[in-house]
Order: sequence, then structure tokens, then C-alpha cells
Amino acid sequence: MSSLMSQIESVKTAIDKIGQFANSEEKDILIKLTGIIEEMANRIEKMENIQGEINEYVTILDENLGNMEDEIYGFEEEEEEFDPFDYVDIKCSECGEILAVEKELINSEKSIICPNCHNNISIKN
Ligand SMILES: [Zn+2]
Repeated sequence: MSSLMSQIESVKTAIDKIGQFANSEEKDILIKLTGIIEEMANRIEKMENIQGEINEYVTILDENLGNMEDEIYGFEEEEEEFDPFDYVDIKCSECGEILAVEKELINSEKSIICPNCHNNISIKN
């Protein structure tokens, strides 16, 4: 039982106890009021349950949508990583090895080490 329902139950019990002292008309009004409050609490409880189910459903939908996005757009992102326009061919002056160097690296580094002969290749002219 929710705390709201148990609070209503304790109010109903309290009304029953004071019923002996109040006149019957007042008691009737109090009983009707608690009846209305009880029905409201029941409806709130139902709405909370439905909302919980909707939240679960939305979470599952969001996960599925994320998976679909990965499948649809993930491949393109992978292609972008290997975009040949992001690379520049640099020829090693010592061994003649042609190295595909990232443009970003060329902008940030002054020189690179040839993986073939370990020659220090200057990439800033
Ligand atoms: Zn080399």
C-alpha cells in the first residue's frame, strides 16, 4: 500500500473514533470527503503505474533507435575515418618509402620518423 493510501486509512479510522462525538451530518460529510480522496488516490496510483510502463517503453524505444542510428550512420562514420583526403603522401628522403600522413599531424608536428628506416623526415617547409 502506498503512503498516500495508508494516510487515508488512518484518517478514516480517526473519523470512526470521533464519530461518537460529532453529529451524524458532519460524520457523513467527512466520510464522503475521504471517499473522494480515496478515489483520487486510487486514480493517481493507476496513473503512476501507467507512467512507469510508458517510461520503460520510451527507454526501450530510445535504445532501439540508438542501435538503428549506429547501424545506419555508423558505417558512414567509419568511412570518414579512412577518408583519403585527410591524408597526404610523404616520401622518405632516405629509403623512398611513401607514408600516408594525417593532415592534422602535418599541421601540429615539425617532423615525423620514417617507420621503415627511422629517418627524421621534415614536414615543415
Ligand atoms: Zn625511410
